[in-house]
Amino acid sequence: MVTKDDVLIVEDSPVTGELLKSYLEQLDYFQIHICATGKLAVKTFKSLVRKKIEPIVLLDYSLPDITAHSVFTQMLKIKPNVHVILETATEREDPGIKDLIRLGAFRYLEKPIRFESLKEIFETIEKEQDFFQRESTQIELFKQATNEIQAQIQDHIEFVVKSLKQLSVNFMVQLIGQADEFVISHLKKLEDENKIINLGEKKEIACNQCDSVKITQLFYCPACKSPNFKLGHLIEHYDCGNITEENSYKNDMCPNCHREIKALGVDYRVMQNHYICNNCNEFFPEILSEYFCLKCEIKFKLDDCSWKSSTCYKAINM
Ligand SMILES: [Zn+2]
Ligand SMILES: [Zn+2]
Ligand SMILES: [Zn+2]
Repeated sequence: MVTKDDVLIVEDSPVTGELLKSYLEQLDYFQIHICATGKLAVKTFKSLVRKKIEPIVLLDYSLPDITAHSVFTQMLKIKPNVHVILETATEREDPGIKDLIRLGAFRYLEKPIRFESLKEIFETIEKEQDFFQRESTQIELFKQATNEIQAQIQDHIEFVVKSLKQLSVNFMVQLIGQADEFVISHLKKLEDENKIINLGEKKEIACNQCDSVKITQLFYCPACKSPNFKLGHLIEHYDCGNITEENSYKNDMCPNCHREIKALGVDYRVMQNHYICNNCNEFFPEILSEYFCLKCEIKFKLDDCSWKSSTCYKAINM
């Protein structure tokens, strides 16, 4: 059940005041304040607004003390979006009435007052309030969703910082897919909380086509270009010239000539850390490398890359 607004009736005739009150009660409005003068009405209005009560005002056009115009303008100053319904026996075309409507009087209620007209006006106000209520609920929901997303992104940033230990703003912006300012402000916050430290500007390899810093290095066999290789130790048997992996010499037996290898440095040598291609079985002390852009998926050599610099951070207390 929606609580209905308070209503402030500004009416010097007690009979009309009571009539309005009884009509309003039929519409389920029970918080009704009746003021017989304009001055009292302004005072009452002010104290209600101060208590966060925003009454709908029924304002009689002819008051005994001050003008309806004066009451209305004073109320507008207190609450610019006040709903004021003007009750009058005077014609709508009257310049004074027109003036009040121009100032923003919500409706014009003709005297003698009929229940149906009053009902219609209050129903319109309720519909309008209902609309704004729904509108602001939607805005609230949208804000909540936005906050949740931002919280998720912040968690994501912290997760990345924690797992990478060291990272650049450029990399983070790209990974998170959010505006620089958002990422930077969150990293600053982590810095203030002593969770990360600023390592200053750092240069990173960037794609020469799309500028992305999400780059990975690819390694491959110089002979057959296969990326399928391993790092291992090789043994060269001087007598027969066989060079194969250490573990192919089972029981110190050369896999080529089937003779025993005897003394290191005399009849064989160990070649440490060589790359052995699983595809063509060739071996190399060095392997070829290229860079690969994970965004636009092109390959490029170190000489052809572009460089981007941005602030770099290191996780310390995470
Ligand atoms: Zn190969
Ligand atoms: Zn041999
Ligand atoms: Zn690229």
